[in-house]
Order: sequence, then C-alpha cells, then structure tokens
Amino acid sequence: MDLITLLQSEFNKNQIIIDEENLVPYSIDESENKALFPQAALIAQSPLEVEKLLTLALEHRFPVTPRGLGTGKSGGSIPMEGGVVLALDRMNKILEIDEDSLFAVCEPGVITENLQNEVWEKGLFYPPDPASLDQCTLGGNVAENAGGPRAFRYGVTSHYLLGMEVCKIGGERFFVGHKSVKGVSGYNLPGILNGSEGTLGVFTKLIFKLIPRPGESGILLAYFSSIKQAGECITRLLKSRIFPTSIELLDKNVMDHIRGVEGFNPPEEAHGAIICELENLPDDETLLENAAEIFDKNGAIHIDVAMDSAACRRVWAARRVVSKKIKEKHKHKISEDIAVPRGAIPLILDSIQDISKKHGVNNACYGHAGDGNLHVNFYSDEENPFEKFDKCIRELFILTISLGGTLSGEHGIGISKKPFMSIEHDPFSINTMKAIKKAWDPYNLLNPGKII
Ligand SMILES: Cc1cc2nc3c(=O)[nH]c(=O)nc-3n(C[C@H](O)[C@H](O)[C@H](O)COP(=O)(O)OP(=O)(O)OC[C@H]3O[C@@H](n4cnc5c(N)ncnc54)[C@H](O)[C@@H]3O)c2cc1C
Repeated sequence: MDLITLLQSEFNKNQIIIDEENLVPYSIDESENKALFPQAALIAQSPLEVEKLLTLALEHRFPVTPRGLGTGKSGGSIPMEGGVVLALDRMNKILEIDEDSLFAVCEPGVITENLQNEVWEKGLFYPPDPASLDQCTLGGNVAENAGGPRAFRYGVTSHYLLGMEVCKIGGERFFVGHKSVKGVSGYNLPGILNGSEGTLGVFTKLIFKLIPRPGESGILLAYFSSIKQAGECITRLLKSRIFPTSIELLDKNVMDHIRGVEGFNPPEEAHGAIICELENLPDDETLLENAAEIFDKNGAIHIDVAMDSAACRRVWAARRVVSKKIKEKHKHKISEDIAVPRGAIPLILDSIQDISKKHGVNNACYGHAGDGNLHVNFYSDEENPFEKFDKCIRELFILTISLGGTLSGEHGIGISKKPFMSIEHDPFSINTMKAIKKAWDPYNLLNPGKII
C-alpha cells in the first residue's frame, strides 16, 4: 500500500494534506534553507493520533518531521527526506494551571504568548519570550530550547521545563521528568529532549514551572556614537549590581532598518544602542537612576525612557521586526545566532566588521548581548552573494568557537549549521550524540538529516 492510501485508511481524510499547493507551508520554515516537500502532512489532534502515526512510520519505514508553526530559523521542520510532516499546532490546549504548586500543563501546539497571557491573569509568569512569541508553539520552543530578551534575568525554556509526555518512533508514549521543581532522579531525560529539534521524540504534553508575576517594568534606550562603546557599556553593566530583565544591543545598520517604526527614533549620530529593561520599578526608585548613571558614565549620547506598559510594548514591537525589515529591504540575507562569553562582545563586534569588509557584504548585528548571544545578519543586493556569505559564516564560526562560544545561542543546528558541528564538538561528543539518536530512533526516521 502506498503512503497516501495508508494514511487515508488510518486517519480522518480532512486531517491529511496531499496536494502540492497546500503542502507549501509544510515545506519551509523561517530559515534561508530551500523548500523540500513531504508526501503528506497530518494535522494531529490528539496524542493517540501521534502514537498511531509513529507506529505506522516504524512499521512501514517512512520519515516523520514534527512541526509547530514553522518559525524555526535553522530548517528544523523542513522534511529533508519527504514522508509525513506531523503538524502539532492544533493540539493547542492549556490543560492545567496549578496555582499552588506553580506549574502549567500544556499541549505542544499552544502559542507561547497564549500561555504567558493566561498565567499573567492569575498573577503568574512564564518568562521565555522568543521574539516570535505570538506565532510559535511551546513544542517548538522546547525542541529548540528557545530564549529571548528576558533570558538575561530569567533563563531560557529549559529553565522552566519540568517534564513532558513524549512519543517515540514506533509509537511508545511515556512520561519523563516530574511536576516538582527539584529532582535529580537518574539521567536528565527532559534535558536531553529539550533542544533535540524533533529528532528523538514528539512531545505530546509539556509541564512548565511558573513563577510569581514581577512588578512594573520600564525601559532605558541608550544611544552611543559607536557600537564598540555600546558593547563596552554592556560589559560595565554586567559587573554592576543592577540586574536588568534584558540587555539588548542594536548596531547602526539595524537602527537604520527600523528607524521610524513606532516607539523607535534614534538620533542620526547614534551608531549603537542598548535596550535595557528593568523591573519592580515602584519598589526600587533608585534602579532607573543607577542604570542611567552607568550609561552616562560610559558614553551614552542620548537616553530615551519608556515607563508605561504601552511605551515598553512599542519598544519591543520595534525590536521584534528587525529581522523582517532586513529581509524585506534586501535581495539576500543570512542570519546566524552565535553566542560568545559576554566579555568578548566588543571584540566579536569589531571582527564582524572586518569579516564583512573583507568579503564585500553588509552586516547588521543585534540581539541578546547581555547573554553574549548575537544575531549576525550578512546581507547583500548582489544577484549571487552566496559564496561570499559562506566565507563570512565559516570565519565567524571559527572565531566564535576560538573565543569559547557556540554555533547557536537559541535557533538550533537543524540543517543550516549541521556542516559546522565538527568545528565546535570533538569526535567523542559527536559520536555520543549519534549514539543517543540511535537509541531513540534506530532507523533514523524521526526528522532525519538534522543536527548530526
Ligand atoms: C521573527 C522571528 C523571531 C524569532 N525570535 C526568536 C528568539 O528571540 N528566540 C528564539 O529562541 N527563537 C526565535 N525565533 C525562532 C523560532 O521562533 C523558535 O525556534 C521557535 O521555538 C520555533 O517554534 P515553532 O513552533 O515555529 O517550531 P517549528 O519551526 O515548527 O519547529 C522547530 C523545531 O521543533 C521541532 N518540533 C516542533 N514541535 C515539536 C514537538 N511537539 N515535538 C518535537 N519536536 C517538535 C521541529 O521538528 C523543528 O525541529 C524567531 C523566529 C522568527 C521568525
């Protein structure tokens, strides 16, 4: 029996997509990788359906690629070897919010912002805030260990994942982790699944730690006459007693791309900016002043202050459209999300300029500099800048690793960074990763072609 007939005999026909036009969204994500089509997409509505598909996949040896909402930036949900894309975005219920033990149980297709809003109403907080939070799923966040601006103070998705129900290829469905905030029972299996990019198992239920809602926030938006000065100011800020929610950096090219977006009007002479969000402001009146003093002493040429929640939302909305604006304005761009030890930020910023100049492409850098995590965009309006991009990226990665950093701070390896894994990891580490994959998926059917 062919794959389509098999699916049609086992699932409701209106959950199966097979025509090419409707399969387009299931052939791409938000990375720069080329589209690859599956034979079909299955819109799963329950863990039982996930279980059934993964049972059939092993029996009939077809590949399955899990997918949330396809906002991934490393090609994770692109079906490299055809087969079936397993769409999980309709499994989107928040199943439980325990206000005494402070955890939430969610289906994997819940949109991140929906969980945040729902727990906020109850005086609680789920901090991970990828810039795509209104269009990505919790399952995708766990699979990529997503972070965001707030990771500086609150950490990334893994800091909130307590446990999960997961389904292996072959259909075995089981629970790993716990609902308690502490636990050291055996190897950390949720830790291995977190960041596994859909290659080990499909998450069908997720349990997240919640924390009490913090007090009112405010933002200082400080501008500098050079990006280097902004980078150095971040190093000073890290050593201070101030513990911001977020420390984000924007370079001149980034500012030029979002200039005029509501909430963002940098002075012409600014070549670097820091977005610094602080919280619990009513409880600590000196916090804003102390932070502003650090900026002043370290060369800020202008500081804007956003104090009410609407003004803060506008600043973040402007920050969130950076990637989209660069993409819209240029023929080609490629973006990386390296992370380096935080003190190396000024040095890497300098080196990125040198690399771009050497290969004749433009660059725009921004991101979570407080965590040492930078989104480095190389862009060009030439017809075919790809060879130049490749050279820039290789040099960027070699430098990053030599500084003690990593290929990806939050977007994952997927297809995009797979060729560079051996720059970062020694053969024993790569073989350990291969052995883990083999133990969970011996026939390489779940999201094949990714990471290793
Ligand atoms: C404008 C924009 C801004 C972004 N900003 C950030 C940011 O600030 N921080 C950040 O970390 N990322 C960011 N991203 C990247 C992306 O949004 C995240 O990686 C997100 O976690 C992907 O979620 P998704 O639901 O779209 O997953 P998809 O892209 O559909 O899938 C991502 C990976 O997860 C796997 N997967 C999905 N669901 C499951 C499941 N239930 N079980 C097992 N595996 C699964 C897929 O196989 C794939 O490997 C941004 C993306 C865009 C477009």
